[in-house]
Amino acid sequence: MQKRILVVDDDQMNLMRTQIILGEDYDVVLADSGIRALHILRDQKIDLVLLDIDMPLMNGMETFEHMKEFAADIPVIFLTASGEVEDVVGALLLGAVDYLKKPYRPQELIKRVAQEFDKR
Ligand SMILES: [Mg+2]
Repeated sequence: MQKRILVVDDDQMNLMRTQIILGEDYDVVLADSGIRALHILRDQKIDLVLLDIDMPLMNGMETFEHMKEFAADIPVIFLTASGEVEDVVGALLLGAVDYLKKPYRPQELIKRVAQEFDKR
């Protein structure tokens, strides 16, 4: 069965772009907010989360904190624009597995996702 990846980003263009990059090899689910992401995580089996840090209302760090209450075993790769290095360091200390700097190259995204699945 295909692995299912949840992509969380308030930027619709980045959601669509990421779906196009990963859609051939994975089942891709999109969420445009942290709240929606948490709903999806409660309803569906998700194998990996790509999580934007900079989002309104509930940012990626807050979403990650909530996730840990009921979905702590799902690996998370943070998506970050430049200048958010401190957030990323905090996230890695909290247990996020990796991060990718936006805009990422398609090959880089594919490689990092594959690496994460190979570990398990
Ligand atoms: Mg954003």
